Amino acid sequence: MSTDTVKTRFAPSPTGALHLGNLRTALFNALLAYRHRGRFVLRIEDTDRERYRPEAAEALQRDMRWLGLDWDEGPDIGGPGAPYHQHDRSALYAGYFHQLESQGDAYPCFCSERELEMARKAQRSAGQPPRYPGTCARLSAEEAARKRAEGLQPALRFRVPAGREVRFTDHIHGEQRFRTDDIGDFIIRRADGTAAYLFTNALDDALMGITDVLRGDDHLTNTPRQMLILQALELEAPRYGHMGLIIGDDGAPLSKRNGSRSVADLEQAGFLPEALLNYLARIGHSYEDERLLDLAALASAFEPQRISSAPSRFDFDHLRHWQDEAVLAASAQRLRVWMGIDALVPPGYADDLVNAVRANVRYPEEGRDWARRVFGPEPDLDAQARQAIESAGADFFTLAAQAAEEGYTRFRGLVEVVKARTGAKGKGLFMPLRAALTGRCHGPELQPVVDLMGGERVIARLRRASRVAAGTNGQEE
Ligand code: GLU
Repeated sequence: MSTDTVKTRFAPSPTGALHLGNLRTALFNALLAYRHRGRFVLRIEDTDRERYRPEAAEALQRDMRWLGLDWDEGPDIGGPGAPYHQHDRSALYAGYFHQLESQGDAYPCFCSERELEMARKAQRSAGQPPRYPGTCARLSAEEAARKRAEGLQPALRFRVPAGREVRFTDHIHGEQRFRTDDIGDFIIRRADGTAAYLFTNALDDALMGITDVLRGDDHLTNTPRQMLILQALELEAPRYGHMGLIIGDDGAPLSKRNGSRSVADLEQAGFLPEALLNYLARIGHSYEDERLLDLAALASAFEPQRISSAPSRFDFDHLRHWQDEAVLAASAQRLRVWMGIDALVPPGYADDLVNAVRANVRYPEEGRDWARRVFGPEPDLDAQARQAIESAGADFFTLAAQAAEEGYTRFRGLVEVVKARTGAKGKGLFMPLRAALTGRCHGPELQPVVDLMGGERVIARLRRASRVAAGTNGQEE
């Protein structure tokens, strides 16, 4: 890749909540810019006013900030390419429409949707690919003026030059060639006067000095059209890279129906931003380092050439894996806020609790559950724990409770004494203790948890277990 300042962009059309496919596009473009200490632009593509949702544009900026995907130019902060909402750029587009039309590279098209549909039908039944038949391409200025006088509003069509080839080197797919004879003239301004996506997107990339565009494979066939527009305007096109789409369980592109959740949903569920970043960065891009990486490290090993051209399957288990890694790596101060445990833990104990349970916590609610189990009243016993307690028997817990009352309340001392006095060992020793002290048969390493609990709670829980095993625990039965 050349060393001129790299400038990338994320150019969403905010019609709904940002989903993981869009977000990966944002991330890859950001990583490419960060990697080269270039610039990352956020541009809001809102020319389709019927589908545009201003709240979606707000939400996606919030989502990106939450992930740390900061941009150098964009709607809120401005920059040399301002404005960054395409809707505010109509006057600028008008000049370029005029230029194309006066050069003969674009012409007004009065064809109705019905006429176009009939032409497509005829082409299909003749075994040809549907393409604009060129009806208005040769309309004289007088004919066009007459149609206008009849009150017909024309669209503006780009005149694709005949007999040429458009070539470019795609970052991911390599050499690409398209024959212009396979491309029909296409609309760049709709009959209602709004600018079409193919045009605004290509023009703004050039005007904003974008050097590299990473986007989904579904845009690959748009690229030759966009390059033709820029050639006609003598503007420079960016380098493109078209990446394999993310698909859901059913093999269809990722959407709400097959597993994609909005970023806001995932945040609400307790996912940490670095989990999402590490997961997304590895969908369709390979990293040699399999540890949790921060944004800077993700950027420094990012290479467009390492992006896969094949579709990648969305796998929620991978996201869970990165969440577990993120919880293990985060600071205790941050996790106690994330878990929301301050009110459940005596002053001064929150960080220790976090460190004692984090390996067994994926979502904040689980952290609160452990905080209550350790510091709250005697925890409820699940069916497995009750069974473990019953099969250890009342005597086991009576002896254990006595040991605790004698002062053996620290985990290691307690285990030694209970082992010596009951003869239990291995699973037969640890499982009943775990069940009695935490109410569960699975969970974090016991020693730090029990030592945080403190003597009084240890004694009370062992006594309760002895009543449960003897079947005399009134309120529990
Ligand atoms: N607004 C377009 C989209 O969201 C941008 C495509 C592109 O990245 O060029 O699909």
